[in-house]
Amino acid sequence: MIRLHDTLAREKRPFVPLNPQRITMYVCGPTVYGRAHIGNARPAVVFDTLARLIRHEFGQNSLIYARNVTDVDDKIIAASEKEGVDPSVITERYERHYLEDMGALGVAPPDIAPHATQEIAPMVAMIERLIEHGNAYEAQGHVLFSVPSDPNYGILSKRDREQMIAGARVEVAPYKRDPSDFVLWKPSPEGVIGWDSRWGRGRPGWHIECSAMIERHFGETIDVHGGGLDLIFPHHENEIAQSRCAHGGLPLARFWVHNGFVDMGAEKMSKSLGNIVTPAELLAQGHRGQTLRLALLSAHYRQPLPWTETLVAQAKATLDRLYRAAGDAPPGDVDEGVLDALRDDLNTPLALSRLSALEGGSLKASAALLGLLASSADDWFQGDTDAAAVEARIAERAEAKKNRDFAAADRIRDELKADGIILEDGPGGTSWRRE
Ligand SMILES: [Zn+2]
Repeated sequence: MIRLHDTLAREKRPFVPLNPQRITMYVCGPTVYGRAHIGNARPAVVFDTLARLIRHEFGQNSLIYARNVTDVDDKIIAASEKEGVDPSVITERYERHYLEDMGALGVAPPDIAPHATQEIAPMVAMIERLIEHGNAYEAQGHVLFSVPSDPNYGILSKRDREQMIAGARVEVAPYKRDPSDFVLWKPSPEGVIGWDSRWGRGRPGWHIECSAMIERHFGETIDVHGGGLDLIFPHHENEIAQSRCAHGGLPLARFWVHNGFVDMGAEKMSKSLGNIVTPAELLAQGHRGQTLRLALLSAHYRQPLPWTETLVAQAKATLDRLYRAAGDAPPGDVDEGVLDALRDDLNTPLALSRLSALEGGSLKASAALLGLLASSADDWFQGDTDAAAVEARIAERAEAKKNRDFAAADRIRDELKADGIILEDGPGGTSWRRE
């Protein structure tokens, strides 16, 4: 029996799905306007691991996992204006990068990846229903959700009204009846991405996207709704309000699961603070995706995870040890101790320490539940040999450049390229990645 911590109940509860043959999980996905950082990668890895556990327990075809792509957003519009390109150029580029980066971390693509721009009609339909029910109103081309119309508002974040108003960082907007009301639809001026509606040409707010797409793909109530801790308020609180009010009070999700932050020093890693490290950079430095995945799973998912070079080095050393212990044995039986650790609210630190006591096929099969030891031991250690060889060639090339032997430098670069190794010269020296 899996037990999961439910943010709404503030406790661990036995995970009993509505329909064990069709378990539904929705995780808020990326807003695609820039490269994902390692903090963004944490929910992708955590919920990928939860998906593996659910499939192990209930059957490979038991789970439908949806992760949305927010491809209409003010930050995307700003990025497209800055580059002078259509928003789709930005969103397609960064969605591709996101899938590459997460793929490198062993994150399987979700079963469904709904895109906001493809699902405007269900959003408009839900907004119309909210207006009919008296939970939303139109004002100056905007449609707003009326927070005071929902007596349950605040159940997830447990904030009082004052905190909610402060926490929502509410902009002064004369069209709002109440300062805590939030936008469901907003007008798009000429030249900005938008869709025709009975409220004029405009675009959806972010929160309505998830409520409408969950309804469209899954129905009224899902088993698991996931995301980072920072989404509890206002995003998930608003999702709950919209969905409950549109569905006559039915709950949106049976389990609300939230992962903690990745910290840099004393601060949360975030784009706005400018203290980010991206998987792309770490991979370019020669770290491998499995190392980053293990580092991300080394703390319990609800705890903060301080990101340091030591953490990454330890993860690499652990993998070396595990690969040696697994050898080239074919996968055997999954260890009950590892399983029990994961069943207990995805206790990955305990599961990892159990793995350290295993060897051979049992280790291989148990590690697969965490998405680890995916390559053969030979390939893993070959990777180290290859990396050392590439580093040596890079040093040789730097030497050639220093001696102004550019023909030799170019030849080394071309030879590496033929082997699928791409060199990138930057201010800090030359980094490399596999093609
Ligand atoms: Zn969402």
